[in-house]
Amino acid sequence: MKNKDLLQIAEDFGSPVYVYDSEKIVSQYKRLTKAFKHVKQVKINYAVKALSNINILKLLTNCGSGLDTVSIQEVKLGLKTGVAPEKIIFTPNGVSINEIEEAVKLGVQINIDNLSILEQFGTIHPDVPVCIRINPHVMAGGNTNISVGHIDSKFGISIHQMPHLLRIVENTGMNINGIHMHTGSDILDVEVFLYASEILFEAAENFKDLEFIDFGSGFKVPYHENDIETDIEEFGKKLGKRFNEFCKNYGKELTLSFEPGKFLVSESGYFLVKVNSVKQTTSTVFAQVDSGFNHFIRPMFYGSKHEVVNISHPTKHKRFYSVVGYICETDTFANNKRIAEISEGDILAFKNAGAYCFSMASNYNSRFRPAEVLWYNGEAKLIRKRETFQDLIANQVEVEL
Ligand SMILES: *Cc1c(COP(=O)(O)O)cnc(C)c1O
Repeated sequence: MKNKDLLQIAEDFGSPVYVYDSEKIVSQYKRLTKAFKHVKQVKINYAVKALSNINILKLLTNCGSGLDTVSIQEVKLGLKTGVAPEKIIFTPNGVSINEIEEAVKLGVQINIDNLSILEQFGTIHPDVPVCIRINPHVMAGGNTNISVGHIDSKFGISIHQMPHLLRIVENTGMNINGIHMHTGSDILDVEVFLYASEILFEAAENFKDLEFIDFGSGFKVPYHENDIETDIEEFGKKLGKRFNEFCKNYGKELTLSFEPGKFLVSESGYFLVKVNSVKQTTSTVFAQVDSGFNHFIRPMFYGSKHEVVNISHPTKHKRFYSVVGYICETDTFANNKRIAEISEGDILAFKNAGAYCFSMASNYNSRFRPAEVLWYNGEAKLIRKRETFQDLIANQVEVEL
């Protein structure tokens, strides 16, 4: 998107505001499917939790995507968007059997990641096909917050528990139609992913009635120029070839599934904020903006480094800034960043603000959550209104005191 379009959006809809470029989302979707063009049946299930506005779900499902959901509420969001239940997979962690049963009633594909629940579920519903989530114990990515394949991880059924898993499947007579792994975000090395895939293939051989193998996600996207990213094209070539070999041996054409979140939406997003004040201290120059980690938590929570552009004055000479927010808590967005000289009132744009940004926003400090705007066919469309004071108190119950 162009700076002038972003500036216009900040002017028309106010700040802070999230903006998503629909063209980028669609092109990422196409890029991923193209990388696997040698596989007959490929299915992409967009991970709703990355960015869950129903218009984003619609945009992606219009491209042919299914949905990967982690809560019954996400399942319902998908259904409300008009997505067929067969195109939704429910991959929760640590939920009650009741929540899984509710998902069964809604007709979505169930993915189970724990032996106790598997045994209970298989006993009550031996006829409902189930996918199982395996933990191959492969470390993907560097940050333990977003790495879910390691030995202490709460996700998945350990590959070492396969004998117990098979015993449950046999005793209950349940039907396993898929096998799944998701080893975490920010995979840097295709070889590591392929290594984990081999473990999944080996596990898959234990089940005779599979329909799909789901390789999860965790593709790394670039955060700045020359940043490393998962080489999707190389990955598609290598995994696709290996998948086709597997199917040949297995004796059946299976579907290869993925469930990317970040890869599809991260780079489409811009978070626009306005500079309230420029504050010089003895050691730094702060640019204080009209937001905080309540709206945009990734820099504080994951240490992620988002590019910042002064879209009001992009060509001014660059100076060093610490960009911070306005909440009463340390909420640093960027440290020692070179940004075109900032004046009060300027609009700054944080890039890569599509995934895990709005969806993790809160009302901390009793601030309203921002508006969301979709840039579609050269037009800005409001897809979520900025909250109002009424929203803040809507569920508060005033009692006699
Ligand atoms: C969060 C999540 C994803 C998406 O991960 P990204 O790193 O955003 O691609 C995929 N599958 C499951 C089960 C998840 O929980």
